[in-house]
Amino acid sequence: MAEDFLLLNPGPVPLSDAVRRAMDAEMVSHRSAAFEAVYERAQEGLDHVFTRSSPNGRPTGEGTSLILNGTATMGMEMAVANLVEPDSEVVALVNGKFGRRFARIADRHCRVERVEVPWGESFDMEEVAAAVTDDTDLVTVVHNETSTGLLNPVSGVGRIAREHDAMFVVDGVTSVGGDVFCIDDWNVDVAVTDAQKALAAPPGVSALFVTERAAERADGASAPFYEDLDWHLRKAESHQTPFTSAVPLFRALAVAVEQIVEEGMPPRIRRHHRQARAFRDGFDALGLEPFPEATGATVRSNTLTAIDLPATVRESPEEFFAAVSERGVSISGGQAHLGGEIFRVSNMGNLTPDQVLRGVRAVGEALAEVGVGCDPAAGVAAARERLE
Ligand code: PLP
Repeated sequence: MAEDFLLLNPGPVPLSDAVRRAMDAEMVSHRSAAFEAVYERAQEGLDHVFTRSSPNGRPTGEGTSLILNGTATMGMEMAVANLVEPDSEVVALVNGKFGRRFARIADRHCRVERVEVPWGESFDMEEVAAAVTDDTDLVTVVHNETSTGLLNPVSGVGRIAREHDAMFVVDGVTSVGGDVFCIDDWNVDVAVTDAQKALAAPPGVSALFVTERAAERADGASAPFYEDLDWHLRKAESHQTPFTSAVPLFRALAVAVEQIVEEGMPPRIRRHHRQARAFRDGFDALGLEPFPEATGATVRSNTLTAIDLPATVRESPEEFFAAVSERGVSISGGQAHLGGEIFRVSNMGNLTPDQVLRGVRAVGEALAEVGVGCDPAAGVAAARERLE
């Protein structure tokens, strides 16, 4: 019997049946009490995820969760645009595609200094410390760089930003909901996440956590009309957005975050860590090499795994990806210049241990099919050992 389709791309991720069902209900007005109740449920769940993702679930951070009618790139722009003026200076940390996106967004609004290292490499914290000065208004960093599978040292960067009283905006798109994230302890002023990643909701909406410090400094008039933070915060008090909300997506998000609250953040984070290690152990046992060069305070991601494609596969990577896909499994290649050089699998959301094992098996069998000498069963055994 053919196995079900298994989505292991680093977003969107598989949806639970309850989340899917939530979208199939009678339409209501985005100005109705019924919609406000949905927004409120989603907000309460997001508050929990944003502020209870410390290792032991201890609360960290006070502020407002906002839901946006757009994906996280809108949230990234909204965070930056409301906190800078044309003569402001942003320090943007870039070691992958999404760090670069933050810098490009900031370029449209003010002056930007990049602290840049090759994609997949760690930042030198001394270089970061030298770049951030008392003239810096805002610092951006991506916590989990989805393009490379690196987890960046947000707490160290946040300490430097706060020493200079700069605002600190963090992209937690592929960490929030699956990994440790500490608003207060890391001096985060605005955190951004996406629905379709570790929250395991459908794509199309995203969320911001805005601390009181950031809300006080924000100037909505300096932002694009659709992204006026003051306006969003005002409307959120009555559980609405300024414009028409994507009602079915909000419903699905409300259910997804309620399922996270039910699992509890510390156990959910531990499960994500265990499953990422299982993928890494499985791929190690297949003889594969990790892609990112995690050194110092930068470590490998706990929500996705990036692996170097073996030299023989690089000659025609499409054959390998087709062989994975024939097994009903969807994984990702590298982005931009990393296309054809790496592959990436996600363990975000609500994967079962069997789904992780199936991912390792599909990769192992596909490699063997395209002529890479490896033992798929050994990969699966190594991953299973980690999951038990
Ligand atoms: N930031 C990170 C780390 C991401 O992984 C992504 C999407 O993959 C984004 C931002 C942008 O998300 P979107 O394309 O949904 O706007």
